Amino acid sequence: MVDRPNSPAFRDVAVNFHPYTNARKHEDKGAMVIREGKGIHVYDDTGKEYIEGLAGLWSVAVGFGEPRLVEAARAQMEKLPFYHSFAHKSHEPSIELSERLLAMAPGKMSKVFYTSSGSEANDTAIKLVWYYNNARGRPEKKKIISRIKGYHGITIASGSLTGLPYNHKDFDLPIKNILHTACPHHWRFGWEGESEEEFASRLAGELEQLILTEGPETVAAFIGEPVMGAGGVIVPPRTYWQKIQTVCRKYDVLVIADEVINGFGRTGQLWGSTTYGIEPDMVICSKQLTSSYMPLAALLFSDEIYQAIADNTAKIGTFGHGFTASGHPVATAVALENLKIIEERDLVGNAARMGEHLQAGLRRFADHPLVGEVRGVGMIGCIELVADKTSKQAFDPAGAVGTYCYERCQEHGLIIRNLGDQMAFCPPLIIDETGLNQLLERFGQALDETA
Ligand code: PLP
Repeated sequence: MVDRPNSPAFRDVAVNFHPYTNARKHEDKGAMVIREGKGIHVYDDTGKEYIEGLAGLWSVAVGFGEPRLVEAARAQMEKLPFYHSFAHKSHEPSIELSERLLAMAPGKMSKVFYTSSGSEANDTAIKLVWYYNNARGRPEKKKIISRIKGYHGITIASGSLTGLPYNHKDFDLPIKNILHTACPHHWRFGWEGESEEEFASRLAGELEQLILTEGPETVAAFIGEPVMGAGGVIVPPRTYWQKIQTVCRKYDVLVIADEVINGFGRTGQLWGSTTYGIEPDMVICSKQLTSSYMPLAALLFSDEIYQAIADNTAKIGTFGHGFTASGHPVATAVALENLKIIEERDLVGNAARMGEHLQAGLRRFADHPLVGEVRGVGMIGCIELVADKTSKQAFDPAGAVGTYCYERCQEHGLIIRNLGDQMAFCPPLIIDETGLNQLLERFGQALDETA
Protein backbone atom coordinates (compact mmCIF):
# COMPACT_ATOMS: atom_id res chain seq x y z
CA MET A 1 0.00 0.00 0.00
CA VAL A 2 2.77 2.47 0.97
CA ASP A 3 4.36 1.87 -2.43
CA ARG A 4 1.21 3.32 -4.04
CA PRO A 5 0.95 6.69 -2.22
CA ASN A 6 -1.67 8.19 -4.51
CA SER A 7 -3.77 5.07 -4.80
CA PRO A 8 -7.40 4.98 -3.56
CA ALA A 9 -6.26 2.35 -1.01
CA PHE A 10 -3.88 4.90 0.50
CA ARG A 11 -6.23 7.88 0.25
CA ASP A 12 -8.97 5.90 1.96
CA VAL A 13 -6.88 5.50 5.09
CA ALA A 14 -6.50 9.28 5.34
CA VAL A 15 -10.23 10.00 5.31
CA ASN A 16 -12.46 6.99 6.05
CA PHE A 17 -13.31 5.31 9.33
CA HIS A 18 -14.76 1.89 8.48
CA PRO A 19 -17.34 -0.37 10.08
CA TYR A 20 -15.91 -3.49 11.73
CA THR A 21 -12.33 -2.48 10.95
CA ASN A 22 -9.31 -2.30 13.24
CA ALA A 23 -8.03 1.29 12.86
CA ARG A 24 -4.28 0.62 13.16
CA LYS A 25 -4.38 -2.47 10.95
CA HIS A 26 -6.23 -0.44 8.35
CA GLU A 27 -3.43 2.13 8.37
CA ASP A 28 -0.94 -0.69 7.67
CA LYS A 29 -2.92 -2.59 5.09
CA GLY A 30 -4.90 0.12 3.33
CA ALA A 31 -8.35 -0.35 1.90
CA MET A 32 -9.37 -2.98 -0.61
CA VAL A 33 -11.05 -0.70 -3.12
CA ILE A 34 -13.70 -2.41 -5.22
CA ARG A 35 -14.37 -0.54 -8.40
CA GLU A 36 -16.98 -2.55 -10.27
CA GLY A 37 -18.95 -5.76 -10.37
CA LYS A 38 -20.45 -8.07 -12.98
CA GLY A 39 -22.43 -11.22 -12.25
CA ILE A 40 -20.73 -13.14 -9.44
CA HIS A 41 -17.49 -11.15 -9.81
CA VAL A 42 -16.12 -7.88 -8.47
CA TYR A 43 -12.95 -6.06 -9.59
CA ASP A 44 -10.62 -3.98 -7.46
CA ASP A 45 -8.89 -0.74 -8.49
CA THR A 46 -5.95 -2.69 -9.93
CA GLY A 47 -8.32 -4.67 -12.15
CA LYS A 48 -7.98 -7.93 -10.19
CA GLU A 49 -11.06 -10.18 -10.41
CA TYR A 50 -12.66 -11.90 -7.41
CA ILE A 51 -15.58 -14.27 -7.01
CA GLU A 52 -17.83 -12.56 -4.46
CA GLY A 53 -18.40 -15.64 -2.32
CA LEU A 54 -20.41 -13.71 0.26
CA ALA A 55 -22.63 -11.88 -2.24
CA GLY A 56 -21.19 -8.64 -0.80
CA LEU A 57 -22.36 -9.09 2.83
CA TRP A 58 -25.04 -11.76 2.17
CA SER A 59 -26.87 -9.48 -0.22
CA VAL A 60 -26.50 -9.47 -3.98
CA ALA A 61 -28.93 -12.25 -4.96
CA VAL A 62 -29.22 -11.30 -8.64
CA GLY A 63 -25.50 -10.59 -9.05
CA PHE A 64 -23.68 -7.36 -9.82
CA GLY A 65 -24.42 -5.06 -12.76
CA GLU A 66 -28.04 -6.12 -13.33
CA PRO A 67 -29.33 -3.64 -15.95
CA ARG A 68 -33.00 -4.07 -14.99
CA LEU A 69 -32.31 -2.75 -11.51
CA VAL A 70 -30.37 0.17 -12.94
CA GLU A 71 -33.31 1.00 -15.19
CA ALA A 72 -35.85 0.61 -12.36
CA ALA A 73 -33.87 3.12 -10.29
CA ARG A 74 -33.42 5.51 -13.21
CA ALA A 75 -37.10 5.47 -14.17
CA GLN A 76 -38.25 6.04 -10.59
CA MET A 77 -35.69 8.83 -10.07
CA GLU A 78 -37.08 10.57 -13.11
CA LYS A 79 -40.71 10.17 -12.06
CA LEU A 80 -40.56 10.73 -8.30
CA PRO A 81 -37.08 10.58 -6.77
CA PHE A 82 -38.32 11.06 -3.24
CA TYR A 83 -41.40 11.30 -1.22
CA HIS A 84 -41.98 10.44 2.40
CA SER A 85 -44.63 8.30 4.02
CA PHE A 86 -45.36 10.26 7.20
CA ALA A 87 -48.89 11.30 8.14
CA HIS A 88 -50.96 9.41 5.54
CA LYS A 89 -48.66 10.05 2.54
CA SER A 90 -47.79 7.22 0.18
CA HIS A 91 -46.62 6.41 -3.34
CA GLU A 92 -47.17 3.55 -5.77
CA PRO A 93 -43.86 1.66 -5.55
CA SER A 94 -44.25 1.17 -1.79
CA ILE A 95 -47.89 0.08 -2.15
CA GLU A 96 -47.06 -2.42 -4.91
CA LEU A 97 -44.07 -3.78 -3.02
CA SER A 98 -46.11 -4.26 0.16
CA GLU A 99 -48.80 -6.10 -1.80
CA ARG A 100 -46.15 -8.40 -3.20
CA LEU A 101 -44.39 -8.95 0.12
CA LEU A 102 -47.62 -9.75 1.95
CA ALA A 103 -48.61 -12.22 -0.78
CA MET A 104 -45.32 -14.08 -0.47
CA ALA A 105 -44.73 -13.75 3.29
CA PRO A 106 -44.38 -16.71 5.63
CA GLY A 107 -47.42 -16.84 7.91
CA LYS A 108 -50.31 -14.42 7.61
CA MET A 109 -48.88 -10.94 7.62
CA SER A 110 -51.10 -7.91 7.41
CA LYS A 111 -49.00 -4.72 7.24
CA VAL A 112 -45.54 -3.56 6.19
CA PHE A 113 -43.33 -0.86 7.72
CA TYR A 114 -40.20 0.24 5.84
CA THR A 115 -36.78 1.33 7.02
CA SER A 116 -33.41 1.67 5.30
CA SER A 117 -31.49 -0.99 7.24
CA GLY A 118 -31.98 -4.23 9.09
CA SER A 119 -30.90 -2.56 12.33
CA GLU A 120 -33.58 0.11 12.00
CA ALA A 121 -36.17 -2.54 11.17
CA ASN A 122 -35.26 -4.49 14.32
CA ASP A 123 -35.40 -1.30 16.39
CA THR A 124 -38.83 -0.74 14.92
CA ALA A 125 -39.83 -4.32 15.81
CA ILE A 126 -38.86 -3.71 19.43
CA LYS A 127 -40.85 -0.48 19.55
CA LEU A 128 -43.82 -2.08 17.85
CA VAL A 129 -43.85 -4.94 20.35
CA TRP A 130 -43.77 -2.45 23.22
CA TYR A 131 -46.43 -0.25 21.63
CA TYR A 132 -48.61 -3.33 20.98
CA ASN A 133 -48.46 -4.41 24.59
CA ASN A 134 -49.22 -0.89 25.75
CA ALA A 135 -52.20 -0.97 23.39
CA ARG A 136 -53.32 -4.26 24.93
CA GLY A 137 -53.16 -2.75 28.40
CA ARG A 138 -50.23 -4.82 29.65
CA PRO A 139 -47.34 -2.34 29.82
CA GLU A 140 -45.25 -4.69 31.96
CA LYS A 141 -44.96 -7.25 29.07
CA LYS A 142 -41.85 -5.73 27.47
CA LYS A 143 -38.92 -8.17 27.63
CA ILE A 144 -37.57 -9.54 24.39
CA ILE A 145 -35.54 -12.73 24.27
CA SER A 146 -32.82 -13.10 21.68
CA ARG A 147 -30.01 -15.65 21.45
CA ILE A 148 -26.31 -15.86 22.14
CA LYS A 149 -24.55 -15.51 18.75
CA GLY A 150 -27.69 -14.10 17.12
CA TYR A 151 -27.10 -11.03 14.93
CA HIS A 152 -29.79 -8.39 14.62
CA GLY A 153 -27.84 -5.22 13.91
CA ILE A 154 -25.84 -2.58 15.71
CA THR A 155 -27.98 0.36 16.81
CA ILE A 156 -28.43 0.74 20.57
CA ALA A 157 -31.54 -1.45 20.61
CA SER A 158 -30.86 -3.90 17.75
CA GLY A 159 -27.24 -4.15 18.95
CA SER A 160 -28.67 -5.21 22.29
CA LEU A 161 -30.60 -8.01 20.57
CA THR A 162 -27.37 -9.13 18.90
CA GLY A 163 -25.77 -11.78 21.09
CA LEU A 164 -22.08 -11.27 20.31
CA PRO A 165 -19.75 -9.94 23.04
CA TYR A 166 -17.84 -7.47 20.91
CA ASN A 167 -21.05 -5.74 19.85
CA HIS A 168 -21.79 -5.16 23.54
CA LYS A 169 -18.66 -4.69 25.55
CA ASP A 170 -17.44 -1.27 24.44
CA PHE A 171 -20.92 0.21 24.17
CA ASP A 172 -22.56 -0.55 27.53
CA LEU A 173 -25.08 -2.89 25.90
CA PRO A 174 -27.49 -4.60 26.19
CA ILE A 175 -30.16 -2.13 27.25
CA LYS A 176 -32.75 -3.25 29.80
CA ASN A 177 -35.57 -5.60 28.79
CA ILE A 178 -33.37 -7.56 26.35
CA LEU A 179 -32.39 -11.09 27.43
CA HIS A 180 -30.37 -13.81 25.73
CA THR A 181 -30.89 -17.55 25.65
CA ALA A 182 -28.77 -20.41 24.31
CA CYS A 183 -27.41 -20.74 20.78
CA PRO A 184 -28.72 -23.82 18.88
CA HIS A 185 -25.30 -25.04 17.75
CA HIS A 186 -25.33 -28.77 18.48
CA TRP A 187 -21.75 -29.49 17.38
CA ARG A 188 -20.36 -26.81 19.71
CA PHE A 189 -22.81 -26.79 22.61
CA GLY A 190 -24.40 -30.26 22.59
CA TRP A 191 -23.50 -32.48 25.54
CA GLU A 192 -21.49 -35.68 25.08
CA GLY A 193 -23.87 -38.28 23.60
CA GLU A 194 -26.79 -35.83 23.33
CA SER A 195 -28.72 -36.19 20.05
CA GLU A 196 -29.78 -33.12 18.04
CA GLU A 197 -33.36 -33.83 19.05
CA GLU A 198 -32.47 -33.97 22.74
CA PHE A 199 -30.38 -30.82 22.39
CA ALA A 200 -33.33 -28.98 20.78
CA SER A 201 -35.63 -30.12 23.62
CA ARG A 202 -33.10 -28.98 26.21
CA LEU A 203 -32.88 -25.52 24.63
CA ALA A 204 -36.66 -25.21 24.46
CA GLY A 205 -36.74 -26.22 28.13
CA GLU A 206 -34.16 -23.55 28.97
CA LEU A 207 -36.26 -20.96 27.16
CA GLU A 208 -39.34 -22.01 29.12
CA GLN A 209 -37.40 -21.78 32.36
CA LEU A 210 -36.16 -18.29 31.47
CA ILE A 211 -39.72 -17.14 30.72
CA LEU A 212 -40.96 -18.60 34.02
CA THR A 213 -38.10 -17.07 36.01
CA GLU A 214 -38.70 -13.63 34.49
CA GLY A 215 -42.48 -14.03 34.74
CA PRO A 216 -44.49 -14.71 31.55
CA GLU A 217 -46.41 -11.48 32.15
CA THR A 218 -43.13 -9.58 31.51
CA VAL A 219 -41.92 -11.46 28.39
CA ALA A 220 -43.20 -10.04 25.11
CA ALA A 221 -41.28 -11.66 22.23
CA PHE A 222 -38.63 -14.07 21.05
CA ILE A 223 -36.49 -13.06 18.06
CA GLY A 224 -34.18 -15.23 15.98
CA GLU A 225 -32.72 -15.79 12.55
CA PRO A 226 -34.01 -19.13 11.20
CA VAL A 227 -30.37 -19.92 10.32
CA MET A 228 -27.93 -17.68 12.18
CA GLY A 229 -25.68 -15.75 9.81
CA ALA A 230 -23.09 -13.37 11.21
CA GLY A 231 -22.77 -15.38 14.44
CA GLY A 232 -21.18 -18.19 12.40
CA VAL A 233 -23.79 -19.64 10.01
CA ILE A 234 -25.40 -21.83 12.64
CA VAL A 235 -27.95 -24.30 11.34
CA PRO A 236 -30.36 -25.37 14.11
CA PRO A 237 -31.52 -28.93 14.69
CA ARG A 238 -34.50 -29.75 12.43
CA THR A 239 -37.12 -29.61 15.20
CA TYR A 240 -35.60 -26.73 17.17
CA TRP A 241 -37.92 -24.03 15.89
CA GLN A 242 -41.10 -26.06 16.36
CA LYS A 243 -40.15 -26.66 19.99
CA ILE A 244 -39.25 -22.99 20.56
CA GLN A 245 -42.49 -21.90 18.95
CA THR A 246 -44.55 -24.19 21.18
CA VAL A 247 -43.00 -22.61 24.28
CA CYS A 248 -43.60 -19.08 22.95
CA ARG A 249 -47.27 -19.79 22.15
CA LYS A 250 -47.82 -21.27 25.62
CA TYR A 251 -46.82 -17.98 27.27
CA ASP A 252 -48.25 -15.56 24.70
CA VAL A 253 -44.77 -14.57 23.55
CA LEU A 254 -44.58 -13.24 19.97
CA VAL A 255 -42.25 -14.99 17.52
CA ILE A 256 -40.15 -12.65 15.36
CA ALA A 257 -38.27 -14.12 12.40
CA ASP A 258 -35.25 -12.06 11.41
CA GLU A 259 -35.02 -13.02 7.73
CA VAL A 260 -32.49 -10.31 6.85
CA ILE A 261 -30.04 -12.93 5.52
CA ASN A 262 -32.36 -15.94 5.11
CA GLY A 263 -35.12 -14.26 3.14
CA PHE A 264 -35.70 -14.60 -0.62
CA GLY A 265 -34.17 -17.99 -1.25
CA ARG A 266 -30.98 -18.18 0.76
CA THR A 267 -31.88 -21.49 2.44
CA GLY A 268 -33.10 -23.01 -0.85
CA GLN A 269 -36.69 -22.03 -0.06
CA LEU A 270 -38.26 -18.61 -0.18
CA TRP A 271 -37.88 -18.03 3.57
CA GLY A 272 -35.82 -19.54 6.35
CA SER A 273 -39.17 -19.68 8.19
CA THR A 274 -40.51 -22.03 5.48
CA THR A 275 -37.44 -24.26 5.79
CA TYR A 276 -37.86 -24.60 9.57
CA GLY A 277 -41.66 -24.49 9.93
CA ILE A 278 -41.75 -21.14 11.71
CA GLU A 279 -45.06 -19.28 11.78
CA PRO A 280 -43.91 -15.84 12.81
CA ASP A 281 -45.93 -12.93 14.14
CA MET A 282 -43.39 -10.52 12.66
CA VAL A 283 -40.85 -10.86 9.85
CA ILE A 284 -37.87 -8.62 9.15
CA CYS A 285 -36.29 -8.69 5.71
CA SER A 286 -33.61 -6.64 3.91
CA LYS A 287 -30.41 -7.34 1.92
CA GLN A 288 -31.72 -9.67 -0.87
CA LEU A 289 -34.93 -7.60 -0.88
CA THR A 290 -33.17 -5.16 -3.23
CA SER A 291 -30.05 -7.29 -3.72
CA SER A 292 -28.67 -4.33 -1.71
CA TYR A 293 -28.68 -2.15 -4.84
CA MET A 294 -30.59 0.29 -2.61
CA PRO A 295 -30.74 0.39 1.19
CA LEU A 296 -34.13 -0.98 2.24
CA ALA A 297 -35.61 -3.18 4.95
CA ALA A 298 -39.18 -4.20 5.68
CA LEU A 299 -40.95 -5.22 8.86
CA LEU A 300 -44.07 -7.30 8.26
CA PHE A 301 -46.51 -8.03 11.07
CA SER A 302 -49.69 -9.96 11.68
CA ASP A 303 -53.26 -8.78 11.63
CA GLU A 304 -53.66 -9.61 15.29
CA ILE A 305 -50.94 -7.11 16.14
CA TYR A 306 -52.32 -4.55 13.73
CA GLN A 307 -55.91 -4.80 14.99
CA ALA A 308 -54.86 -4.49 18.63
CA ILE A 309 -52.91 -1.36 17.77
CA ALA A 310 -55.61 0.14 15.54
CA ASP A 311 -58.36 -0.53 18.08
CA ASN A 312 -56.43 1.31 20.75
CA THR A 313 -54.90 4.21 18.84
CA ALA A 314 -57.31 6.67 20.42
CA LYS A 315 -56.23 5.48 23.85
CA ILE A 316 -52.46 5.16 23.43
CA GLY A 317 -51.75 7.76 20.75
CA THR A 318 -50.31 7.77 17.24
CA PHE A 319 -47.31 5.50 16.52
CA GLY A 320 -44.58 8.10 17.05
CA HIS A 321 -41.90 6.50 14.94
CA GLY A 322 -40.67 6.67 11.34
CA PHE A 323 -37.71 7.61 9.15
CA THR A 324 -37.40 10.24 6.43
CA ALA A 325 -36.50 7.45 4.01
CA SER A 326 -39.19 4.95 5.20
CA GLY A 327 -40.45 3.28 2.01
CA HIS A 328 -38.21 5.42 -0.22
CA PRO A 329 -39.70 5.34 -3.75
CA VAL A 330 -36.45 4.49 -5.55
CA ALA A 331 -35.56 1.76 -3.06
CA THR A 332 -39.04 0.21 -3.20
CA ALA A 333 -39.10 0.39 -7.03
CA VAL A 334 -35.75 -1.40 -7.16
CA ALA A 335 -36.99 -4.02 -4.67
CA LEU A 336 -40.04 -4.71 -6.82
CA GLU A 337 -37.94 -5.26 -9.92
CA ASN A 338 -35.47 -7.37 -7.94
CA LEU A 339 -38.27 -9.63 -6.64
CA LYS A 340 -39.59 -9.98 -10.20
CA ILE A 341 -36.15 -11.10 -11.37
CA ILE A 342 -35.86 -13.59 -8.50
CA GLU A 343 -39.20 -15.07 -9.52
CA GLU A 344 -38.76 -15.00 -13.31
CA ARG A 345 -35.30 -16.58 -13.18
CA ASP A 346 -36.33 -19.06 -10.48
CA LEU A 347 -33.42 -18.03 -8.31
CA VAL A 348 -34.96 -19.77 -5.30
CA GLY A 349 -34.96 -23.01 -7.33
CA ASN A 350 -31.39 -22.30 -8.39
CA ALA A 351 -30.43 -21.76 -4.76
CA ALA A 352 -31.91 -25.18 -3.93
CA ARG A 353 -30.19 -26.95 -6.86
CA MET A 354 -26.83 -25.17 -6.64
CA GLY A 355 -27.11 -25.24 -2.85
CA GLU A 356 -26.82 -29.03 -2.95
CA HIS A 357 -23.67 -28.66 -5.01
CA LEU A 358 -22.25 -26.06 -2.61
CA GLN A 359 -23.04 -28.15 0.47
CA ALA A 360 -21.54 -31.31 -1.06
CA GLY A 361 -18.46 -29.35 -2.16
CA LEU A 362 -17.92 -27.80 1.28
CA ARG A 363 -18.30 -31.20 2.95
CA ARG A 364 -15.40 -32.50 0.87
CA PHE A 365 -13.16 -30.39 3.15
CA ALA A 366 -14.40 -32.17 6.28
CA ASP A 367 -11.33 -34.44 6.47
CA HIS A 368 -8.88 -31.55 6.24
CA PRO A 369 -6.73 -31.35 9.41
CA LEU A 370 -7.83 -27.74 10.13
CA VAL A 371 -11.55 -28.33 9.69
CA GLY A 372 -13.69 -28.89 12.77
CA GLU A 373 -17.16 -28.69 11.28
CA VAL A 374 -18.74 -28.09 7.89
CA ARG A 375 -22.31 -26.83 8.09
CA GLY A 376 -24.90 -25.07 5.99
CA VAL A 377 -28.17 -25.29 4.14
CA GLY A 378 -29.08 -24.17 0.63
CA MET A 379 -26.80 -21.39 -0.52
CA ILE A 380 -25.25 -20.54 2.84
CA GLY A 381 -22.46 -22.47 4.49
CA CYS A 382 -19.56 -22.38 6.90
CA ILE A 383 -16.31 -24.17 7.56
CA GLU A 384 -15.11 -23.83 11.13
CA LEU A 385 -11.35 -24.08 11.58
CA VAL A 386 -10.05 -25.57 14.83
CA ALA A 387 -6.70 -26.15 16.52
CA ASP A 388 -7.66 -29.74 17.40
CA LYS A 389 -10.13 -31.74 15.34
CA THR A 390 -10.91 -34.32 18.03
CA SER A 391 -11.37 -32.03 21.02
CA LYS A 392 -12.84 -29.21 18.82
CA GLN A 393 -10.46 -26.84 20.60
CA ALA A 394 -10.52 -23.38 19.07
CA PHE A 395 -7.41 -21.46 18.01
CA ASP A 396 -5.79 -19.06 20.43
CA PRO A 397 -5.93 -16.19 19.73
CA ALA A 398 -9.31 -16.71 18.11
CA GLY A 399 -9.60 -15.45 14.56
CA ALA A 400 -5.93 -15.17 13.56
CA VAL A 401 -5.95 -18.41 11.52
CA GLY A 402 -9.31 -17.50 10.00
CA THR A 403 -7.95 -14.12 8.97
CA TYR A 404 -4.89 -15.75 7.43
CA CYS A 405 -7.07 -18.16 5.45
CA TYR A 406 -9.34 -15.31 4.37
CA GLU A 407 -6.34 -13.35 3.09
CA ARG A 408 -5.10 -16.40 1.15
CA CYS A 409 -8.59 -16.65 -0.38
CA GLN A 410 -8.30 -13.07 -1.58
CA GLU A 411 -4.91 -13.76 -3.12
CA HIS A 412 -6.57 -16.57 -5.06
CA GLY A 413 -9.40 -14.30 -6.21
CA LEU A 414 -12.11 -15.25 -3.75
CA ILE A 415 -13.88 -13.00 -1.27
CA ILE A 416 -15.62 -14.76 1.61
CA ARG A 417 -15.88 -13.66 5.24
CA ASN A 418 -14.10 -15.02 8.28
CA LEU A 419 -16.17 -14.73 11.42
CA GLY A 420 -13.22 -15.41 13.70
CA ASP A 421 -12.14 -18.87 12.55
CA GLN A 422 -15.49 -19.61 10.92
CA MET A 423 -15.24 -19.24 7.16
CA ALA A 424 -18.63 -18.16 5.79
CA PHE A 425 -19.92 -18.77 2.25
CA CYS A 426 -22.99 -17.07 0.81
CA PRO A 427 -22.61 -16.63 -2.96
CA PRO A 428 -25.04 -14.74 -5.21
CA LEU A 429 -28.12 -16.86 -5.97
CA ILE A 430 -27.34 -16.70 -9.71
CA ILE A 431 -24.17 -18.74 -9.35
CA ASP A 432 -23.84 -21.83 -11.56
CA GLU A 433 -21.87 -25.04 -11.25
CA THR A 434 -18.78 -23.61 -12.95
CA GLY A 435 -18.75 -20.64 -10.59
CA LEU A 436 -19.19 -22.86 -7.56
CA ASN A 437 -16.41 -25.21 -8.68
CA GLN A 438 -14.05 -22.25 -9.04
CA LEU A 439 -15.08 -20.94 -5.64
CA LEU A 440 -14.43 -24.32 -4.00
CA GLU A 441 -11.12 -24.78 -5.81
CA ARG A 442 -9.85 -21.34 -4.74
CA PHE A 443 -10.92 -21.97 -1.16
CA GLY A 444 -9.16 -25.37 -1.21
CA GLN A 445 -5.88 -23.72 -2.29
CA ALA A 446 -6.20 -21.11 0.46
CA LEU A 447 -6.98 -23.76 3.07
CA ASP A 448 -3.97 -25.87 2.09
CA GLU A 449 -1.74 -22.82 2.36
CA THR A 450 -3.16 -22.14 5.84
CA ALA A 451 -2.42 -25.66 7.15
N1 PLP B 1 -30.41 -8.88 11.02
C1 PLP B 1 -29.59 -9.79 10.46
C2 PLP B 1 -29.97 -11.22 10.52
C3 PLP B 1 -28.42 -9.40 9.82
O1 PLP B 1 -27.61 -10.31 9.28
C4 PLP B 1 -28.11 -8.03 9.77
C5 PLP B 1 -26.88 -7.57 9.09
O2 PLP B 1 -26.06 -8.34 8.67
C6 PLP B 1 -28.97 -7.11 10.39
C7 PLP B 1 -30.11 -7.58 10.99
C8 PLP B 1 -28.65 -5.66 10.39
O3 PLP B 1 -28.83 -5.12 9.14
P1 PLP B 1 -28.07 -3.75 8.74
O4 PLP B 1 -26.62 -4.05 8.65
O5 PLP B 1 -28.72 -3.42 7.43
O6 PLP B 1 -28.41 -2.76 9.78
